Amino acid sequence: MASNNDKRSKTEKVIMVTGASGLVGRAIQAVVAEETSRPEEKFIFLSSKDADLVSEEETRLLFEKHRPTHVIHLAARVGGLFANMKYNLDFFTDNLKINTNILNNAFKFDVEKVVSCLSTCIFPDKTTFPVDETMIHNGPPHPSNFGYAYAKRMLDVMNRCYKDQHNCKFTSVVPTNVYGPWDNFNLEEGHVIPGLVHKVFTAKRDATPFYIWGTGSPLRQFIFSRDLAKLFLWAIREYEEVDPIIFSVGEEDEITIKEAADLIVEAFDFKGPVILDTSKSDGQLKKTAENTKLRKYLPDFKFTPIKEGIKETVDWFVENYDIARK
Ligand code: NAP
Ligand code: GDP
Repeated sequence: MASNNDKRSKTEKVIMVTGASGLVGRAIQAVVAEETSRPEEKFIFLSSKDADLVSEEETRLLFEKHRPTHVIHLAARVGGLFANMKYNLDFFTDNLKINTNILNNAFKFDVEKVVSCLSTCIFPDKTTFPVDETMIHNGPPHPSNFGYAYAKRMLDVMNRCYKDQHNCKFTSVVPTNVYGPWDNFNLEEGHVIPGLVHKVFTAKRDATPFYIWGTGSPLRQFIFSRDLAKLFLWAIREYEEVDPIIFSVGEEDEITIKEAADLIVEAFDFKGPVILDTSKSDGQLKKTAENTKLRKYLPDFKFTPIKEGIKETVDWFVENYDIARK
């Protein structure tokens, strides 16, 4: 009996995107919608409503239903510093199960290419900076997120094992801190930019002070979700290595948490008091990553300036306050 794969023309690509309802997935949906259509590509955008990827059986049924030729694998249990500190075990076990299920089924269903997502917060805590793609496994990650970090590192290990044993083309990309519309603006669970956007919004509305957690001095490289989406699409179409590639703005674009907060204050035109709550954790002080490998492939790629990206994020949050995750 002919399978869906047999019936398909050789050039047709069915690109299944897991985690497509999240920050990065929504940006990929938007970029695909804006692109000139490519008739040979069919995208399938999935959320946890389509399947709980922690479940082996639900994941298998998903592959059986859609028969993807390509997978952009974004789905993960994701959270900011404070969520990671609280739920290290859950971040480890859920992500390990999700990633194992995705790659195992991608292998069984003959998927041509999988691009999965790592993060620069999985690099060793004690290291030299900037970090590059060769340094992921060179020492323990920061204790605040060791569950998430080890689960993500195992994706790279699995990619290499699938290549060695079965010649699969499963690879990964390594973004720095992402921000943009459709982020998780929940204060306890989310990352720093959505957290600060939500807090300035509330402070302005209620005429209360705006609290930045920690000293404000840690350094981060922030990538706008639309830029990351474009890079993901490039990776699924063009990137042929199994080894990971860092997706980051340049080292010169690294800023402090306080500088990011100042840009958010400016975007809101907030005039009230700004207070650093130094009783809260700073987490990793820096995780500076280099983008030399990316620049070899895409020397002319233009990143959205952070001021512009933050303004767009703030405007989106204000306009979509009722539906935003918070
Ligand atoms: P997000 O906004 O929290 O979205 C997470 C996505 O995963 C959602 O679509 C969610 O579906 C889905 N998901 C979660 N658990 C699932 C499960 N058990 N089964 C099926 N789907 C599940 O996260 P994001 O920021 O877009 O992150 C996307 C990827 O980028 C992740 O792999 C993350 O590790 C990586 N990353 C993120 C950052 C960052 O700063 N945000 C930085 C580096 C790397 P529902 O909407 O239905 O819940
Ligand atoms: P990380 O980059 O993986 O550490 O995760 P986050 O995106 O959560 O950023 C954490 C950094 O931002 C730490 O230095 C925090 O002290 C600082 N920070 C300041 N205010 C906030 C906030 O409201 N939410 C979060 N998540 N972090 C904050």
